[in-house]
Formats: sequence, C-alpha cells, structure tokens
Amino acid sequence: MYLLKNRILTDGKAINSEILKVDSFINHQIDSNLMKEIGKEFASHFRDKNISRVMTIESSGIAPALMTSLELNVPLVVLKKQTSKILNDDFYQTNVISFTKNTTYNLTLSKKYIKPDDHVLIIDDFLANGEAASGAAKLIEEAGAKVIGIGIVIEKSFQPGREKLDNLGFDVYSLARIKSLSEGKIEFLD
Ligand code: 5GP
Repeated sequence: MYLLKNRILTDGKAINSEILKVDSFINHQIDSNLMKEIGKEFASHFRDKNISRVMTIESSGIAPALMTSLELNVPLVVLKKQTSKILNDDFYQTNVISFTKNTTYNLTLSKKYIKPDDHVLIIDDFLANGEAASGAAKLIEEAGAKVIGIGIVIEKSFQPGREKLDNLGFDVYSLARIKSLSEGKIEFLD
C-alpha cells in the first residue's frame, strides 16, 4: 500500500534492528485518514469472503480493525490481554508472549462474542513472531469458528511470524512488508 509505505519512510523510526516506532501515526497519535484508507484496503481484499466478525488484540490493533469492520459492516471484537487466568467457563484463553514487553499475558475472548458459524478476519498493527495472531486464531478455532484471513498493517518479514502463519495455513495479507531495519534504514520487501 503506497500511502502507508510512504508514511513509514517519512515518519517511522527504526529504534534498533528489531523494532519500528510508528507512534506519530499508528500507535500513540493516530492518523484517522490513513486508518480509513487502511480499513478500505483490508475490506476490499476480503470483501467477497463472507466475513461475519473482525477481531483484533487490544490496543494498537483497534484503529485499523475498527475501520475495516466499518467498511465490511460487521461487528468488531477486541481480544483482551489479561494478566491472570479467569477461572470460569465464560471465556476462551491462551497464553501469549508479548513481543515489545517481553512478558506473557492471557489473551481472552468472551464466549458471548463468537459463534461456531462465524467467519472471522483477524487484524493487527504489527506481525513479528506471530504470537498474537496465532493466539487469536487458536481461540477462534477453539470456539468452532473459521479464521478466513489475517490482515497485518506492518509485517516485519525478517522475523518468524509470517512463516509461522503461512505454515499454519492462514491467508495473510500485509499492507507493508519490511525486509530490514538494519542501521536505522527501513527497507521494504518489494
Ligand atoms: P507478535 O505477536 O507477532 O510477536 O508481535 C506483534 C505484536 O507486538 C503487535 O500486536 C504489536 O503491538 C507489537 N509489535 C511487534 N513488533 C513491533 C514493532 O516493531 N513496533 C511496534 N510499535 N509494535 C510492535
């Protein structure tokens, strides 16, 4: 997506060879017009797939996921990051390692917001090791629903997440694919 890649080049900062900071337009301050275009792009890619719900992981995935759900005219479900296990049968939970914080959390989905006949599109802001996206997919499949696709705003293709999701058989659509962040230079795959 040209608009996004251009913005990454002008306002993104490779803080080291592993992490890209996009605080000024995606994570902290949000460029709503850019998000609107991101939502349109995901929606047009997955429009004929009969999506019934969009799901994301709090909190940076919410903006692009909301715009996508609006375009597809379906509800958005936000998976919660709980620090402890919830000891009752009303929730699906799985343990996920946080890439940026190097801690673990319990990714949590209420049984009220997923049905076995759901066709789900997962949206997230970044793909690094694929922990968040594969954890979300696990919960959706545990509910008996189908993961139709995974939409990623920024994929760091030099980290293992993409291969992991491909190997699990998911249809992954990334709007910007980063080949390298070495020496503060942002390079795209294509
Ligand atoms: P994964 O679960 O794929 O290992 O990591 C994805 C999650 O970690 C995303 O939801 C995102 O919030 C965070 N993340 C991973 N890499 C980066 C990065 O380079 N920059 C920022 N801002 N967040 C990242």
